[in-house]
Amino acid sequence: MRIKTRLIHGGIEGDPHTGAVSVPIYQVSTYKQEAIGVHKGFEYSRTGNPTRHALETYIAEIEGGARGFAFGSGMAALSTILSLFNKGDHLVVGDDVYGGTFRVVTRVFSRLGLEATYVDTSNLEAVEAAIRPETKAIIMETPTNPLLKVSDIAALADVAKAKNVLLIVDNTFMTPYWQNPLDLGADIVFHSATKYLGGHSDVVAGLVVAKDPKVGEDLHFVQNAIGGVLGPQDSWLLLRGMKTLGIRMEEHEQNARTLAKWLSERSDIKRVLYPGLESHSGHELIKKQARGFGGMISFDVGSAERADEVLSKVKYYTLAESLGAVESLISVPARMTHASIPVERRAELGITEGLVRISVGIEDVQDLIEDLEQALS
Ligand SMILES: *Cc1c(COP(=O)(O)O)cnc(C)c1O
Repeated sequence: MRIKTRLIHGGIEGDPHTGAVSVPIYQVSTYKQEAIGVHKGFEYSRTGNPTRHALETYIAEIEGGARGFAFGSGMAALSTILSLFNKGDHLVVGDDVYGGTFRVVTRVFSRLGLEATYVDTSNLEAVEAAIRPETKAIIMETPTNPLLKVSDIAALADVAKAKNVLLIVDNTFMTPYWQNPLDLGADIVFHSATKYLGGHSDVVAGLVVAKDPKVGEDLHFVQNAIGGVLGPQDSWLLLRGMKTLGIRMEEHEQNARTLAKWLSERSDIKRVLYPGLESHSGHELIKKQARGFGGMISFDVGSAERADEVLSKVKYYTLAESLGAVESLISVPARMTHASIPVERRAELGITEGLVRISVGIEDVQDLIEDLEQALS
């Protein structure tokens, strides 16, 4: 089955009791037992719920892993993964991962004795050099936000295997429609399903898939022990959103590609970052490891003032954090998502004051171009 078909027919289809074509919302906390311990596979909804189970089965199949898990947010998903580790364990983490990832590692799990070193994961030697005897995992994102830097998943998986550590990939930006880290050798893949998987700015959720059944077993233990699970209503919303992931991602990408090309031909734009452009440093690598380039673009309009002006003039781009929904969203990372990073570090990374990020939606691209044109002039 090809990915577009798998998105429609993957996992558990409908309801065998009634013939309902969509999986019902099992709004329930507990389940009747015929005798002690005799039940139909569900005992209590933190441990397992049929709607959430349908979603978990579905994402495991879509990402090609042994087991899937759904959580109340991307951060709850990551925190559960991090709870696999012990005091004194060490992690190698990408140096421009999502801000919330950085925050939970440095300000929560560090207090519990989990150590971390931050490195540029596009530099294999740096990753290898950062691995210590206590290192248990590498955590990475590709492409990153907002600079869209690409790292080689298969090469990092080789490093991880040689050193006997887990490779954990945040696949939020690419989605399983374009990129499957487990097929490239990663051990765990996770998503902020709040973004493209939900796709309609109406649900906050996180998904995790483990390649190996043993890791899946350990994850189920911590998921149930900690309890940051996704509710049945939101599980259903994700199941519904993901049915259209294929057509949405195609449109996001088509529009992003058109906008990036249009922007790169303008003399008043300092630089355009989109991995689908041949000029992008990660273009060849992303072509090797993914089937597409995604729907995120960043470009530098030159100054904070000009960025302000553009943001105040656009009509079809909503000024907001987050990404991956049907509507186009616009932001200035230096003063929004990345404001907590010290100015010097931002400059080092290349997150300039005039850098504008767009999560390109699925509106008519001609309208998106005309709107940006009037805002830039
Ligand atoms: C949003 C996001 C997260 C966090 O997910 P939430 O659903 O907001 O908790 C993690 N990683 C990336 C890349 C994100 O964009």
